[in-house]
Amino acid sequence: MSFRYQNIRVYAGLFISIFAFILMGYMSEQQSQAGGEMALEDSTQVEIDTIPLNYYVENGIVRDSLIIYDGTVKLNQSLSEILLKFKVSYAEIDRIAKKSKDVFDVRKFVTGKNYLVFYTDDSLQKVECFIYEIDAANYVVYDLSDSLNIYRERKEVEVRIRVAAGVINSSLWQTIVDNEIDYNLPLELSEIYAWAIDFYRIQKGDNFKVIYEEKYVDDKKIGMGKVICAYFNHFGDDYYAIYFEQGDAADYFDENAKSLRRAFLKAPLKYSRISSKFSRRRYHPVQKRYKPHLGTDYAAPKGTPIMTTGDGVITISGYSRGNGNFVKVRHNSVYSTQYLHMNKIKSGIRKGTRVRQGDVIGYVGSTGLATGPHVCYRFWKNGTQVDALRVSVPPSLPVDKSYLEAYEAVKAEMISKLDSIADPS
Ligand SMILES: [Zn+2]
Repeated sequence: MSFRYQNIRVYAGLFISIFAFILMGYMSEQQSQAGGEMALEDSTQVEIDTIPLNYYVENGIVRDSLIIYDGTVKLNQSLSEILLKFKVSYAEIDRIAKKSKDVFDVRKFVTGKNYLVFYTDDSLQKVECFIYEIDAANYVVYDLSDSLNIYRERKEVEVRIRVAAGVINSSLWQTIVDNEIDYNLPLELSEIYAWAIDFYRIQKGDNFKVIYEEKYVDDKKIGMGKVICAYFNHFGDDYYAIYFEQGDAADYFDENAKSLRRAFLKAPLKYSRISSKFSRRRYHPVQKRYKPHLGTDYAAPKGTPIMTTGDGVITISGYSRGNGNFVKVRHNSVYSTQYLHMNKIKSGIRKGTRVRQGDVIGYVGSTGLATGPHVCYRFWKNGTQVDALRVSVPPSLPVDKSYLEAYEAVKAEMISKLDSIADPS
């Protein structure tokens, strides 16, 4: 989970516009439904907070009748700085720090994290316990009541099932501003649907329903679990995503038991041979000099149909002196492909046209800087040209036959639950 959170931070900037757009929908149109065995609760945003104070007393970590000081680690604040205020001696603090090493390094206290000091309600004000909260579920106990006892504990995390539904509507911007926003749900959705839906291009009228997990500790929300299933209506098309575990692998599958992730076609044409590979330094046959060749050339007879290797939207359909007639396809926020030297671009392939994997987008030619009929196939990953033959795209296997029956049962239940959520539009 911690790794995931780091990722979220890294991508937060990149996806901020996506989040905003989606949140506009889901924040304003939250639904409350009950259905089947699953208790579906309303998805009112709950502030993510720390462990409730009374937890430690209620769970016998510290005895009742102590005074509780609830603090936050300040910038560069150390254990000794905290405990000296409570009249714990240097010698004792030193002993605590040393003994703590095997359990939790006190130098790893993080600014902004919570800590609790429990001391006696008398003139001595003796510290009996110090607790450092690593996160909303994990904490370290320094029990000073008897001989020093230091241990780490994890609170029980309760998973609750929630639903959200919404319509993408640009006028709902204010809803984000007015509400506490959990960015995790839109991020999860954008990852699940990365191959099916370009989240930079979701449009007004697109709508969705989602059933997902939220994690709670003592009635306080500490974060989001996984998305269990989702429905997205994009440009009028239905996209279901069902979480399913087969063996030790889990993935999201559609209503046809296919993975939501898509592999690219190996090549943009059916019958061809590779005449030149991706290279950072290649002798250019026309320009007669060394220069990078950031694509893969497939030689084929003039007029051979060229296919888009993945679903996407045409971002460029045009002509340039070097590329000749060419088409660029954007597949999602990560991948784009480009096809050069076409004899002719297929009619109807214009900027904004949506294409499906295998759709013909043009025909092999030798327009632009080319010696003979071929298509130069270029592949972008996160804005950088990479070798299409080497790029590793996650596998996209369908549900295995041995799990198909189990999947069908899960799918039927999930789709019926999704359908029972009131239509957000
Ligand atoms: Zn080329």
